[in-house]
Amino acid sequence: MQPSTDAVCLLPAQVLRILLIEDEPALARNVVDYLQLCGHHVDYAADGKHGLFLALQHNFDVILLDLMLPRLDGLSVCRQLRTQGSRHIPVLMLTARDTLDEKTQGFYAGADDYLTKPFALAELALRCQALARRSQPDAYTLDIGPLRLDRRSHQAWRAGQLLQLHPLGFQILQMLAEASPAVLSRQQLSERLWPDDAPDSDALRSHIYLLRQQLDKPFDWPLLHTVHGVGFVLRVPESV
Ligand code: CA
Repeated sequence: MQPSTDAVCLLPAQVLRILLIEDEPALARNVVDYLQLCGHHVDYAADGKHGLFLALQHNFDVILLDLMLPRLDGLSVCRQLRTQGSRHIPVLMLTARDTLDEKTQGFYAGADDYLTKPFALAELALRCQALARRSQPDAYTLDIGPLRLDRRSHQAWRAGQLLQLHPLGFQILQMLAEASPAVLSRQQLSERLWPDDAPDSDALRSHIYLLRQQLDKPFDWPLLHTVHGVGFVLRVPESV
């Protein structure tokens, strides 16, 4: 007898940040439990409006989106995500409906893949992996530990949380991320931030201070370190 595929949870090749938007509690619980068992991080929203809010605030690898949802339907969530999102996050539509017309609508709204209920959890997990692999971080994104930078949108996230950065704060962070684990001196930073005429050294100091408020203060350990007499470095502890 063949074992049920749902009983098998292969260890993921890549740990994913997944958002599930689904209003049916029993199905949602099964999906969340299974994907967590596979080692993925899963966030959950029970209606379309909350789901869209989470999708725009955090940096997910894959979004699992039910079609029939309270407050905002799945097609609308997908369309708004595509117009408002800073990057293309793969969307897998989950639905009980299985007509070609509805699938077509889903793809027009910007979905990347489609799975009809009832589905095997193992297949769902495999499709998540495949979707995430297809949209691997490209040359525009840069990952260092829990930090992700998007060079196109000039946005940065730590542990999935969008950082509210001043444009110069983002530039400093990008330079340090590109140099990491090397240290950048104050002079190197100043020359690149203000190539024509560097303001006094307090300007750099205050931008570093503001950057730390967003990048490190809300979290358990600092990414940005001062190397006394030299400059600054981004460093991820080995245990993380
Ligand atoms: Ca539903």
